Amino acid sequence: MNIEEEAKKFLREKNMSNITATEYQDNAKKTAIFPKEKALEYLALGLSSESGEVAGKMKKIIRAKSKLNKQDLGAEIGDVLWYCAVLASELGLNLGKIMENNIEKLHSRKARGVLGGSGDNR
Ligand SMILES: [Mg+2]
Repeated sequence: MNIEEEAKKFLREKNMSNITATEYQDNAKKTAIFPKEKALEYLALGLSSESGEVAGKMKKIIRAKSKLNKQDLGAEIGDVLWYCAVLASELGLNLGKIMENNIEKLHSRKARGVLGGSGDNR
């Protein structure tokens, strides 16, 4: 079974709204093609580029050159997610654990009343 058939089989068998972070990360890695010796640089640039595409679509909406297309924006968010997942993999980090740590950090900041402040270590 080639990777496209494997992905389609996975999508058929899995309700994608219930995909876990680990399942997403594992599947994203299968489509990662880049020079290994420049992996971190490639992935960080890709993440920046894709988040820039989200920003660009929003900029065009502000200029009233286009209407908000949630599907298009969702696809760009998916591209950002792919780079997050594969960058985490390259660093040996679990995407689900990153998500968990982030939620814990934000809830702690909210509970301590410092959510709206600035600085990494609040
Ligand atoms: Mg994109």
